Amino acid sequence: MIETQLARKTTYLLIGLALLFTLGQPARAQDTSEPSGVTIHIVQDGDTLESIAESYGTTIQAIQQANALEDPRDIFVGQRLVIPVSITHIAAPSSQPTIMAGLADTLTALAIRYGTTPEQLGQSNRIVNPARLYAGQTITVPSTNPTGIARLGKNDSFWNIALSANANAVALATINNIANPFAIMPGNILVLPDDTTPSTGSPPYPWDTIVLHPLPLEPGQTGGIRITTSMPGTISATFLSCDLQFMSQETGHTAVFGIDRWTAPGLYPLTIDFQDEAGTTWAYNRDVLIVEGNYPREQIQVSEETGAVLNDAQSVQEEADYIAQKMSGFTPQQYWDGLFLLPVAGVPTSPFGAVRTYKGNEAVSFHTGTDLAIKTGTPFYAPADGIVVDTGWLDIRGYITLIDHGAGVYTGYWHQASIMVKIGDQVTAGQQIGTVGSTGLSTAAHLHWEMRVAGIQVDPMQWVREVFP
Ligand SMILES: [Zn+2]
Repeated sequence: MIETQLARKTTYLLIGLALLFTLGQPARAQDTSEPSGVTIHIVQDGDTLESIAESYGTTIQAIQQANALEDPRDIFVGQRLVIPVSITHIAAPSSQPTIMAGLADTLTALAIRYGTTPEQLGQSNRIVNPARLYAGQTITVPSTNPTGIARLGKNDSFWNIALSANANAVALATINNIANPFAIMPGNILVLPDDTTPSTGSPPYPWDTIVLHPLPLEPGQTGGIRITTSMPGTISATFLSCDLQFMSQETGHTAVFGIDRWTAPGLYPLTIDFQDEAGTTWAYNRDVLIVEGNYPREQIQVSEETGAVLNDAQSVQEEADYIAQKMSGFTPQQYWDGLFLLPVAGVPTSPFGAVRTYKGNEAVSFHTGTDLAIKTGTPFYAPADGIVVDTGWLDIRGYITLIDHGAGVYTGYWHQASIMVKIGDQVTAGQQIGTVGSTGLSTAAHLHWEMRVAGIQVDPMQWVREVFP
């Protein structure tokens, strides 16, 4: 009894504390409010579109347009109506929008894009030397006054809205607090920026565009570079002490590169050189930010036999060297096109990059692929077009398949139950190449999916979400 009362008192105390902490941070809720420039009205009993329009100082037509209402009487109690209102009618946003500086951005170009001056932008961001702006730098920009809104139709995308409104995509994403433009669905409302002046942030001659993505870069990730130049020529570049291999077609040049999992966060110089057909050369130099990766830690319990194999450093190293050698060439042709497919719809049980400590074997390593758990015998598929460069048996990895996707991109599949392709086979995205198993050093059925870009081990899951180069 006493115990129960004590427990009850403790519970009340905890609830009280929880309330205290909740009340202590009321401002947080504001951050997730609707985008500036629109407000939401919940239709009440007795409301008409006319009365709603009147109370918000707008027109019936504007509300109809914003909500794709054919008939103004077509409203119901409880309905959430988007009301387009002038920015002066609602409170200013609590925090200033920020953007990420791209590889070709300059303070002047950003200032023009966001309707301010380079001095003001420099001052509010405490940028002492504008020449030291780096790719991946977070810049606070003045909020743009929205004047219009657009509602996404069935076949609309973020991109065609940006295009048809002649709006800068970065500005559009910024004022709508959109982190992933691909996640915008039909029916969503976008606030259009007032300043629809396209970016004049093109880099100096002879560079037409220089794009590096994603920003900021992270260890264990792939980076893509897309460059167009004013005339044909050859591109070479150095980043993270590696020479990047470019694929060039006339004035278009692309490259993909891997960032080693153990790269320390910081600013790293990227040097790009261009030589036109007459032999004239130009250089473009910029620091690029690499932030800390967000990787979990895993404690792996291994049996005595497994421990013995893992402790046999020589055999572990031999197999690793074999794989590294097979997955690090450069075929000067890009076989893949667009996003990679997931090779199998397994449960992701262990992500790429997780730091691993083995009990009884204190060696610290990281997980070099992503594990997709699914039952033995499940078919799995090539995620993209490519050429099979190796198949066979390895003591630790079991039955394996290696695919060359061209341009220095390779994928590998371990612990297979069966192999369905042979060396030299051309495979296409979605073609079955084997079945999932638990062969080699594996405790349960799963597909270990691994990727190398320019010889560096990277997270293959990034390629399922992001198009390279
Ligand atoms: Zn694995």
